[in-house]
Amino acid sequence: MIKTIGVVTSGGDAPGMNTAIRAVVRSGIYHGIRILGIKKGFAGLIENDIIEMELKSVGGIINRGGTILHTVRCPQFKERNVRAQAIEKLKCWGIDALIVIGGDGSLRGTKALSDECDIPCVVIPASIDNDLSCTDFSIGFDTAVNTAVEAIDKIRDTAQSHERVFIVEVMGRSNGFIALEVGLVCGAEQIIIPEIKFDINKICKKIIAGKNRGKSSSIVVIAEGAGHTPDIAKTLSQKMGLDVRISILGHIQRGGSPTAATRQLASLFGDYAIRLLLSGKKNKMVGISGEKLINTDFSEVIKKAKKIDLAKYKLADVLSI
Ligand code: ADP
Repeated sequence: MIKTIGVVTSGGDAPGMNTAIRAVVRSGIYHGIRILGIKKGFAGLIENDIIEMELKSVGGIINRGGTILHTVRCPQFKERNVRAQAIEKLKCWGIDALIVIGGDGSLRGTKALSDECDIPCVVIPASIDNDLSCTDFSIGFDTAVNTAVEAIDKIRDTAQSHERVFIVEVMGRSNGFIALEVGLVCGAEQIIIPEIKFDINKICKKIIAGKNRGKSSSIVVIAEGAGHTPDIAKTLSQKMGLDVRISILGHIQRGGSPTAATRQLASLFGDYAIRLLLSGKKNKMVGISGEKLINTDFSEVIKKAKKIDLAKYKLADVLSI
C-alpha cells in the first residue's frame, strides 16, 4: 500500500519540470498521498535533502522555468554502494514509491535503483533534447524549440538587412532533434545534425544558388554535436568568399516559461505517474503516443533508440531551395 511518494528532478533541467512537480504534488495529495520532495537530484537523496510538499509548496510555479527542487548531476550514483545508501534513505523516510523527472541518464539511474530494491519507480521524461524513445515528446522540448525559433527569426531579420549568411548553433550534443524541428520551421537553408553526414561543397552550392536567385540571407542551423561550429563557418566562408556570422544560442534554450504544449504534457504526465503507481504499476516511463498516454518498462525504453525523422529532414531541404 503506497502512502508516501518521493519526487525528484534529475540531470539536465528542462522548462516544464516545475509544472510536472506541481501536477505530481497536487494529484498525489488529491489521492490522499503524502508527497516528499527530494532536492538536487539523486544527490539530495543521499544527503537527506528532503522536504515535505504541500498544496501551497507548488503554488505559482506552473509557468516558471527551472525546477524548485533544483537538479544536479550525480555521477557517483553509478556506483552500487552509493545507490544502496539511497535505498536506505528512501526506507528511512518511509518513501513507498519514487517519481523521477528527468532525461535519459536519470532513467538509467532510476532503472539501476529499481533493479536493486522493491520500491516502485516511475520516470517522467523531461529533456529539451527529446531523445527518449517510447514517447513522442518529452517535457521541455516544445519550449526549447520555440525559444530557438524566436531567436532565429530575429537573426533572420538582421541577416536579411545585411545580406548575410548565419550559422546558428542549437543544443543537441548527440542528436539533432531540436535542430531538425527548428530548421524546418525557420526555413533554414541547411540543417547539420550528428545523425546525417554533411557535404560542405553541397552546402556552399545551395547557398550560392539561393543568393544568385535573389535570396537576401541564408541560415544554417547546426546541432552542437554535429561539428565544430567556428571551423565549419570558416570553411564555408573561405569556399564561398562570403562573410559567415556565428550565433550560439546555448543555455537560453533550457530556460524560460514553458509553452502551453509543455505545460499540458507536464500536467498530464504528473497526474498519470501518480495514477500508475496507485494502480500497482512499477518501473515504467510515462509517455505520449499521439493523444494517448502510454507507459513502457524501463528496459524497453533503454533498448530502443529514438530515430531522427528522415522525411522531415528531406522536407526541410526541399522547402528551402
Ligand atoms: P539526464 O537525465 O538529463 O540525461 P544525466 O545524464 O546527467 O542527465 O543523468 C542524470 C543523473 O542520473 C546522473 O547525474 C546520475 O546521477 C544518474 N545516472 C546517469 N546514468 C546512470 C547510470 N548508468 N547508472 C546510474 N545512475 C546514472
